[in-house]
Formats: sequence, structure tokens, C-alpha cells
Amino acid sequence: MTIAIIGGGASGILAALNIPKNHNVILIEQNDKIGKKLLVTGNGKCNFWNKEINTTKYNTDNISVLDSVLSHQDSVFKYLIDDLGIYSYHKNNYYYPNSNLASSIRETFELALNRPNIEILYNRSLKNIQIEKQKIKLELTNSEELIVDKVILACGGLASPKTGSNGSIYPILNDLNISYNPLRPALVPLILEESHLSKCSGLRSIVRLTLKDKEELICQEEGEIQLTDYGISGIVTLNISSKVSRLLAEKITPSLYIDFAPQDANLDKIFKTTFSQNHTIEEILETVLNYKLIPIILNKANIRKAHLGSKLTDEDIKKLVFSIKNFSVFIKDTCDYEKSQVSTGGVSLNDINQDFSLKKYPNIYVIGETLDVDGICGGYNLAFAFISGYLCGRSISHD
Ligand SMILES: Cc1cc2nc3c(=O)[nH]c(=O)nc-3n(C[C@H](O)[C@H](O)[C@H](O)COP(=O)(O)OP(=O)(O)OC[C@H]3O[C@@H](n4cnc5c(N)ncnc54)[C@H](O)[C@@H]3O)c2cc1C
Repeated sequence: MTIAIIGGGASGILAALNIPKNHNVILIEQNDKIGKKLLVTGNGKCNFWNKEINTTKYNTDNISVLDSVLSHQDSVFKYLIDDLGIYSYHKNNYYYPNSNLASSIRETFELALNRPNIEILYNRSLKNIQIEKQKIKLELTNSEELIVDKVILACGGLASPKTGSNGSIYPILNDLNISYNPLRPALVPLILEESHLSKCSGLRSIVRLTLKDKEELICQEEGEIQLTDYGISGIVTLNISSKVSRLLAEKITPSLYIDFAPQDANLDKIFKTTFSQNHTIEEILETVLNYKLIPIILNKANIRKAHLGSKLTDEDIKKLVFSIKNFSVFIKDTCDYEKSQVSTGGVSLNDINQDFSLKKYPNIYVIGETLDVDGICGGYNLAFAFISGYLCGRSISHD
């Protein structure tokens, strides 16, 4: 059999390596090298796996299918380490190559792909797919045509288009009437309506972010955010951004609350003690908050900063604590795909069989980020790309 794989990213590479060696594999990549996106992952260090992979780390439209895919994680990890020889270390559950260089992983893949049954066609983009009885005709950019038995779509999503995932697959899916859930940027900073926080651009703060749809809690994340001139960034922001994007895609704007003192449940008690001393409110607040935030918090609580702490009523203290722990901001949008690490949406897990073939077209397979699965930061996205590629490749029978 001849099997074409469209896309030489993490998922396409693993699929190519795991297809039984008696088949001809043609890997079609529109860049001039494979794994270009890998090079920018994990700030150039490639956080390629995580010790705790489970469905709670992902957003998708079918948790039980995802769960069954992830149940194979141990075999895939063993394959990466023992069979391919990725020499790695882990820190706080995050796995990196021992060299701390993403290029090591890309090189490992390039060496492994050097096999007689695998041909790589660089600088070629898939333009069209035609189903012809038992065969599939692929049209490539330079008017080349290929007749293959099966095709695996491993084209990524829309994030970081300069690395190759430029969305050229979606018009092709449209032509074949293959539906997909709406795409939006994820693992991406958030743009906020003006909230005075932009005055603190550059400030980093440990916070708890709470995302709600009306009164319903969507998620909570605790960690460091960075305030920017347009909104907020930092890992915890990125981690909630997929949920924001998925709601925005449904025309729902969720509410976001920032707790600037997430460790301290008894802030009002502390304030009642310290406020009885003869200090200004600003002086007292500086013991708890970054000084740049103080005028913004006082403004939100509607309290004049020149006040002496001892003059504050219990009601004022309540308002102050509320402003610190429930600072509401309005989400305008997410940043765009250039700033995003993954995209939400894609081909639904409901539309694929266990072997990643489409229920509608059993000789067309979809893997990696082209599927509607995206993970939070921590190696989960590459892990899903690897697991889906590995399983899809191995599902193809020897015959
Ligand atoms: C800046 C950044 C940092 C990241 N850091 C991490 C991290 O540390 N850990 C982690 O787990 N994840 C990280 N990710 C996410 C991770 O890189 C992706 O989820 C993963 O690469 C997806 O793999 P994929 O094979 O599905 O798609 P991709 O890696 O996007 O590969 C798709 C390939 O298909 C090719 N292609 C697309 N369309 C066509 C076509 N029509 N014809 C031919 N070729 C085509 C593209 O050129 C590309 O090479 C990061 C992403 C970015 C952008």
C-alpha cells in the first residue's frame, strides 16, 4: 500500500515512523524541513511530555474518546525514549531533551525517518483530495499528482502560522464536506477592556483567575500573570484561554475575576488589626500588594488613598477586600494566532473511528492538532500529537 501523510509535524512524523515497514510512506511537508514548529516549542527547549497526562489537562468535544486515546500513553513514551532514543530529563513533571534544545528532538526524528520505505517531499503543499473508487488522488501545489491508498491529515491547526500550520487544509476539508468545530486561538494572552490595569504593564503578580459564565464556575487557575498594555499574559492566562476561546466561539463572553491575594483567606481580619494603627491606607496595603496596584484597587473600592487606615469603617474594609480578591475585568478578545501556541476546534472526535480514520471516509485519517483537542501548558499538546500519530500509524495493518 502507499500511504501519504500530509504534514511533517509531531503527529505526522510519529505516524510515518509507526506505519508497518512493508508499506510505502510519502510524507508531504510544505516547509523545507520537518518539525519546524518543534524548534519553537518550550521556548526552544521543547517540553515534549508530562508525567501526569489525563483528560483534565485537555479541552475537547469528546472526553471518553480522548480518555481511550490517552490510555496508550505509556507505550508511546516508552517508544520515544527506548526506541527513538530521546535522552531526556524532567522537572516538575515536565519532560525536556537532556540538551535543553528542541533541535535535538527534531534531529532524532530526522534520523529515524531515514528509512527505505519513507519518502519525504519538501516544499509541497496539498491542494486537493479526490476520492476515486478504492484510491485517493492528491493534488500538490506544483501540479504534481499522487495516487495513494490512504491519506493521513496531520496539518496542525492555525496557531503560529509562520511555522507551517497555515490552515490550508480547511478549504480541502470543506470541499470534501468534512465538518470541523470552529477554530480559535488558544494558549494565548487575553485582551481586556480598559480596567486601569494597563497602567501596570510589565507587572507580574501571583493571582487566582476565576472564569465564569454568568454564575457558573468554568475554571480556576492559580499562578503568575503578567499585566500588559492590552490585557494579561503568563501561563495561568494561557491555561484558561482555550475555555475563553470556546465560549467566545459560541458568542458567550465569560466573566473573569482576579484574586490578587490568593494565599490569604483572612485578609479582612489582617486589615482590621493593621488598620487600627495610625498609618495611611496606602502604607498598609503595601504590605500585601505591589505598590503599583494600590491606586487601582482603591479606585475600584471607591476609597480615597489619603485616608488613615483607622478611619475606615468595616464596610470600607469589606469593599477593599472584595476589590483585591474579586477584581472583575472584561474580556474583549484573545490575541491572534501569531501569539497563540495551539488552536481550539478542528475535526470532532465524534467523527473519527478508533484508528483515527474518518467515519465518512475510512481511508482518510486525521491526527494531532487538526483534531478538536487542545491541552494546557506542560507538554500535553505534543504528547497528544505523538500519541495520536503513533496509534494511527500502528493501526494500519501489515496487509
Ligand atoms: C510557540 C509555541 C510553543 C509551543 N510549546 C509547546 C510545548 O512546549 N509543549 C507542547 O506540548 N506543545 C507546545 N506547543 C504546541 C505544539 O507545538 C503543537 O500542539 C504540536 O506541534 C501539534 O503537532 P501537529 O503535528 O498536530 O501539528 P504541527 O506541528 O503544526 O505540524 C503540522 C505540519 O503540517 C504542515 N502542513 C500544514 N498544511 C499542509 C499542507 N496543506 N500541505 C503540506 N503540509 C502542510 C505544516 O507545515 C506543519 O509542518 C507550542 C506551540 C507553539 C506555536
